[in-house]
Amino acid sequence: MSTSQKKLARYDVIIIGGGHAGCEAANSAASMGASTLLLTTSLDTIGLLACSPSFGGPGRGQLLTEIDAMGGLMPRIIDETAIHFRQSGKDTIRQAPFAICDRSRYHRHIKSRLEKTENLHIKQDTAQSIVFSGGKWEARCITGQIFKAKCLVVTAGTFLRGRTSLGKSKQKAGRNNEIGADGLAKCLVELDFNLGIFRTGTGPTVKPRTLAASLEKQQYDEPPLFCSRATKIKGPRQVHTYKTHTSAQTIKIVKKQQNNQLVGPRYCPSLLDRIVKFPQKKEHPVFLQPESLQKQEWFLNGISMDFDEEIQQKVVASIRGLSEAETIRPGYSVAYRYLKPGQLTGNLESKNHRGLFFAGQVTGSNGYEEAAALGLVAGKNAALKAKKHPCSELERNRFTSVLVGDITSKKITEPYRMLLSRVAGAKLPSKIEDFTIPYSMDFSAIGLSQEAIEKLNRFQPATINEALKLDIPEKSIQALALYLERQNK
Ligand SMILES: Cc1cc2nc3c(=O)[nH]c(=O)nc-3n(C[C@H](O)[C@H](O)[C@H](O)COP(=O)(O)OP(=O)(O)OC[C@H]3O[C@@H](n4cnc5c(N)ncnc54)[C@H](O)[C@@H]3O)c2cc1C
Repeated sequence: MSTSQKKLARYDVIIIGGGHAGCEAANSAASMGASTLLLTTSLDTIGLLACSPSFGGPGRGQLLTEIDAMGGLMPRIIDETAIHFRQSGKDTIRQAPFAICDRSRYHRHIKSRLEKTENLHIKQDTAQSIVFSGGKWEARCITGQIFKAKCLVVTAGTFLRGRTSLGKSKQKAGRNNEIGADGLAKCLVELDFNLGIFRTGTGPTVKPRTLAASLEKQQYDEPPLFCSRATKIKGPRQVHTYKTHTSAQTIKIVKKQQNNQLVGPRYCPSLLDRIVKFPQKKEHPVFLQPESLQKQEWFLNGISMDFDEEIQQKVVASIRGLSEAETIRPGYSVAYRYLKPGQLTGNLESKNHRGLFFAGQVTGSNGYEEAAALGLVAGKNAALKAKKHPCSELERNRFTSVLVGDITSKKITEPYRMLLSRVAGAKLPSKIEDFTIPYSMDFSAIGLSQEAIEKLNRFQPATINEALKLDIPEKSIQALALYLERQNK
């Protein structure tokens, strides 16, 4: 390494990984005045939306509001790049932003924002190991470069010993065709970290010109509920999205694949998981979300699967209104290593290795908003530590502090997702109308009338207030509210 390279290679904070946790960690550390390096395997995947192009909704929308209040980037970038805003829990205390972004625009905007951030340097390289030497953390990369810093934040997402599956095809990869981080995972084990295995997966995308006109239209909101208080001007043109349902034929095809599937904790639940867990459900909702204003590609949200491509095409064709749809990108799943709870402090710093922080999917969480909130907390605390200041408190941010508290101290059996019901204040609404109804709840287990079960399954209301608008018999509503109240206690 030349003398000038050595000089460049010293920082206050290094962030490994340019996903959602890494982007927020880099932005928050640099904004605190720490000289920061964002080290990531590919500059072309900074802030990539690996699954659905959507953000927010119950729980996650509240997280976005807090990220905004803490000075995070994600809410502003969503507002700049969203092509569909539709708030959830409208007119209730659960109101939260929901938006579908143009995938390519989101990546370009967040990358450009980071490139302009003072104190922040961005480099394309892959950290193969991390070493504590001479009072500093070193990130040793596959190119031979070594970068040093007082603090280091690992945000390697699903890449730690990542293994993807698409039917019979298995790859050593952190995401589709992207090199995994086996070296870093091995190094963490050598540093005595206790790693577990989780899985997650995504659904296929289809060509829009083959979609039937009979699909249920979901209107965008006008005016939109922005994710950031700072947003004043509308971004790109807005488009409607669509909703449909699986059919009896879908269930038949998917059930045949049951024996070929890998098992293990995972989120989002695959279509197979949904069908097996809720055998009484005759149909499951499928949401059609545009990938971009420029692309002829729509994401099918709700049918995460990793079957052979041929089977995936059959599943898609069995969905109502999609018989002519052509699958372009098949869904797939990924198994990866994460840090089991109990190894991090409430500041997301390792208990045994001071100056080493973690955030995002590597901590056992799942989701863009969760990763961003955790990244923000870890980046801020790493910067404070590097500057020898006390770490920051989270008390005023309820959802973020519950998220951090849960992933650092509770037993986690599947990738952790933020839900309204996890937050104490949100668990005990003052009025029964405000009770949140969990997504994919099994209504047939509570003894409701057949009419009520059918309506609830069909319309999937988010709250009792929404259920009341479905003209469901009063006794069924009362039984549902009583059941939810008991669950929340
Ligand atoms: C197939 C799939 C399906 C998913 N489905 C959903 C879903 O339905 N809903 C949902 O909310 N979330 C879903 N997720 C999860 C979502 O993508 C993550 O929760 C979120 O992106 C986590 O952010 P992160 O920053 O922790 O990691 P990521 O976004 O995965 O980013 C990790 C970054 O680290 C980089 N990196 C890794 N190792 C190294 C290294 N050694 N050196 C340098 N750089 C490195 C990678 O290149 C990448 O840029 C899915 C993810 C995948 C892969």
